[in-house]
Amino acid sequence: MALIVQKFGGTSVGDHERIQAVAEHVARTCRDGHDVVVVVSAMGKSTDDLLALADKVSTEHPAREMDMLLTAGERISMALVAMAISGQGVEAASFTGSQAGIITDTDHTRAKILEIHPGRLRAALDEGKVPVVAGFQGMSTEKDVTTLGRGGSDVTAVALAAALGADVCEIYTDVTGVFSADPRVVPKARRLNRVSFDEMMEMAATGGRVLMLRSVEFARRHGVPLQVRSSFTWEPGTWIVEEDPTMEEAVVSAITDDISEAKLTLDGVPDRPGVAATLFRQLAVRGVNVDMIVQNTGTNGLTAISFTVPKTDVDAAREICDAVAVEIGATNVTTDTGVGRVSLVGAGMKSSPGVTALMFETLYEHGINIEMISTSSIRISCVVRAEKVGEAVRALHTAFGLDAA
Ligand code: ASP
Ligand code: MG
Repeated sequence: MALIVQKFGGTSVGDHERIQAVAEHVARTCRDGHDVVVVVSAMGKSTDDLLALADKVSTEHPAREMDMLLTAGERISMALVAMAISGQGVEAASFTGSQAGIITDTDHTRAKILEIHPGRLRAALDEGKVPVVAGFQGMSTEKDVTTLGRGGSDVTAVALAAALGADVCEIYTDVTGVFSADPRVVPKARRLNRVSFDEMMEMAATGGRVLMLRSVEFARRHGVPLQVRSSFTWEPGTWIVEEDPTMEEAVVSAITDDISEAKLTLDGVPDRPGVAATLFRQLAVRGVNVDMIVQNTGTNGLTAISFTVPKTDVDAAREICDAVAVEIGATNVTTDTGVGRVSLVGAGMKSSPGVTALMFETLYEHGINIEMISTSSIRISCVVRAEKVGEAVRALHTAFGLDAA
């Protein structure tokens, strides 16, 4: 008998029929002798609908009120799911994030979990009930309702699994697992049976859209085995686990794509100490999330710095660059929103030479120009024109032998 956290995303509880299918699955798991804690997202697109409503009533969106509004979505699904489970003859009780003992900091709309006091969930389990917890929310140290950032129900599920010492955290979604590439971009993408936490983190950070990055970091830190699977087919899915030292790792496990970032470039930058520090300090102060950074080798005392930021941060980044350019005497700032990134991820890359060469050759054969490059020990990313990203991913998927037969 195991303790299992089962998290159901928005599409998995999208309407009353999906909710009943979820309830049947939870009841089945209980009848198999397991204890289950359920975590739910808001139904379908309801979080987006609430955001749109907020836009209509005002241009002022105090973060505290936004959190009050958005947490309503998960409250609806938690109550409905608890009712549906009861309808299956298994006792269930719903809990808001606050009732579930999830304490966060006061950073509204993107709060971090500080502590979890899962006493009420344990008591419910001891009484033979299935606790159904509203994902994505908690209560701040100031006793206000908070949210954990978009996609935050994944974090709720992993954090509860860690706090309760669960045996596994199952993330149910509308895809059958983690794929070697986005199947909408690469029809020949394959489902992976197993990926390591490190690989999954690189994938989540470079455009893999299955799991929120923070939830994977959290799972790795607390050693919570994750399983991503479909609530439409219920087939086994993908395990995200610690690297297995007895197994040979795939050189390249997956290829991700991302067109959510923009590139900024400062030209004619004086090549002297402190220039990069000034620029990136100011970006940090404004909370701009910088990703890839490339600085050219200086010639004649001048250099160029390019970096990428999420498109949502591009206006703030531009303002700062313009100001810093004046301050340091850089000649020119350009913004480019037509970029995309393609990345290879694979734990086996560490011990296989030639991966980078094959990546560059493949892009060259397709006439795709590389504008920026960045690497980690298990990832290589190239920035290319956004409209070339799809072709690049497909070509690399074939070149690295990932295509399904
Ligand atoms: N409902 C929230 C969102 O759409 C949280 C989640 O689904 O994980 O972002
Ligand atoms: Mg989600």
